[in-house]
Amino acid sequence: CGIVGYIGKNDTTKFLLDGLKELEYRGYDSAGIALLNCDKIDVFKAIGKLDNLKNKIDSAKLSPSYDIGIGHTRWATHGKPTELNAHPHLGEYSYVVHNGIIENYKELKDELIAKGHNFVSQTDTEVIVHLFESYNNEFENCEEAFKTTISRLEGAFSILLISKAAPEKIFFFKHGSPLIIAKGNEDGEVLFASSDAPLIGLANDVVYLEDGVGGIASSNEIVFLNDNYSWSTLPTSKQFAQK
Ligand code: GLU
Repeated sequence: CGIVGYIGKNDTTKFLLDGLKELEYRGYDSAGIALLNCDKIDVFKAIGKLDNLKNKIDSAKLSPSYDIGIGHTRWATHGKPTELNAHPHLGEYSYVVHNGIIENYKELKDELIAKGHNFVSQTDTEVIVHLFESYNNEFENCEEAFKTTISRLEGAFSILLISKAAPEKIFFFKHGSPLIIAKGNEDGEVLFASSDAPLIGLANDVVYLEDGVGGIASSNEIVFLNDNYSWSTLPTSKQFAQK
């Protein structure tokens, strides 16, 4: 139901947790975050209140040195509100968060199971990360793998995906569910959120992505899959007043 993402040198965990808190009003049954630093991914999930997630993270006593992170509050549509069904969802080396519904998930899941992929949740979302890894293993090219993955999905989705195969990047796409991308106030910061509340006071250039827009963000560039867009021509950008 809510999505946040962060690339940058500030406290990734704090941005994600504060951001999810700002999205709390939309309702949720569980929450989770994944943090990536080079080839190390840490993931935390909890059902119920965000405090349950925060307590888990606090007791892990993380050092705040993650350059990339994604977070999610879930409003279950496929699969009960359990910890296993909470996002982010994991493949072998990648994680995804997703708002919306993948309508053709059953046929994709059958196809992936036949290829040997192992599913652990009842969600529609889990197919996205397996599809990405299946194409990435085949093409050995993350960008092509992500593009092809998106082309297979039907329904409504906003997606953030991170992978050890491209540890400095966040893959994103919007179709039917909201997603905002923003340049953060600090140099090299890229922020994502499903509504503007988590970004207020923290971002300069803010773009409400239109349907069909996606790409690959890193701290120094954003490559759009639609090659007719650059950052400056993206529909529809606005400036936030600083806090
Ligand atoms: N359909 C997904 C699920 O049930 C995402 C739900 C949401 O938007 O929070 O896990």
